[in-house]
Amino acid sequence: MRVIDFRSDTLTQPTVEMRQAMLNAELGDDVYGEDPTINKLEEMGAKLVGKEAALFVPSGTMGNQLAVLCHTQRGDEIILEERSHIYNYEAGGIAFLSGVQPRIVKGDNGIMSAGDVEKAIVTDKDIHHPQTGLICIENTHNMAGGIVVPLEAMEEIYELGRKYSLPIHLDGARVFNASTALGCDVRDITKYCDSIMFCLSKGLCAPVGSILAGSKDFIDKARRYRKMLGGGMRQAGILAAAGIIALTDMIQRLSEDHGNAKLLAKGLKYIEGIHISMDTVQSNIVMVDISSPKYSSYSLVDKLKEKGILASDINSSRIRFVTHKYISKDDIEHTISVFKEILQ
Ligand SMILES: *Cc1c(COP(=O)(O)O)cnc(C)c1O
Repeated sequence: MRVIDFRSDTLTQPTVEMRQAMLNAELGDDVYGEDPTINKLEEMGAKLVGKEAALFVPSGTMGNQLAVLCHTQRGDEIILEERSHIYNYEAGGIAFLSGVQPRIVKGDNGIMSAGDVEKAIVTDKDIHHPQTGLICIENTHNMAGGIVVPLEAMEEIYELGRKYSLPIHLDGARVFNASTALGCDVRDITKYCDSIMFCLSKGLCAPVGSILAGSKDFIDKARRYRKMLGGGMRQAGILAAAGIIALTDMIQRLSEDHGNAKLLAKGLKYIEGIHISMDTVQSNIVMVDISSPKYSSYSLVDKLKEKGILASDINSSRIRFVTHKYISKDDIEHTISVFKEILQ
């Protein structure tokens, strides 16, 4: 049976070129700093986002957690958007590893206003109060549906960081989707943060790995914490080889995924029982709201699965579709026709 898998852009498998590069990668022990392929990837990654240094980490979660560890003190408060990945999907790591507590700001479709962020900053030295240690931004915002945080919003929050001497960490798991959607250089986004994590394994097809980037001091510290957490890998250049191709060859094709997401949304939105806010379809994620007497999101996901279409139920009325390299225009058209068959 034909299977079309929209559950996530993490499902992308390494390309033939990546597998070839992995086979031929020059390797060394990265804990000794001697893996030339890792060193090359870290250099490329840092340069790409305009930071002094970078660190290859096994996952986006580890990258974000290292950033929180490096930027904060135990007992600090960190500012996070309500639906952010760091707050909701990292297993409580900020509390467990860094000993910090979250101060949640409700964004408009994931976009925090500078005014709300400023109100959330603790500015006094009252011994009863926690001290704010960090502000995190997520771009694109995953659970808001791949929403792109505009440059002005990034800049305003970055300015607050300067005003209150607070670092800004960007959870940029999909930052290249943001730069693609904005039609800008990724550095136009990353200049508004002190540190950034981006994923090589989402949409860019690398099998494993993310990059954490920031100042040299920050990365030196993060490298030590990475070792502490057991993330010091040896001949990991075999993975970095794929990561290099992710950065050189795969970013430019993300616009195809964005086109396919729009195509999917346009095809589904007129179907009875479905609601999609088109203005939220900005990158490679489509959130589909179901208001059908016949189906909840759960039963519809099951029904779609029977037909070979996989997607994620986010709650009882919402299904998430993520487009990626292994979903073609033809797959989108097929999906729309299956939806019509089920719901009409
Ligand atoms: C996927 C994701 C992460 C974590 O990446 P993993 O490699 O899955 O640990 C962090 N932030 C956002 C916004 C994500 O979508």
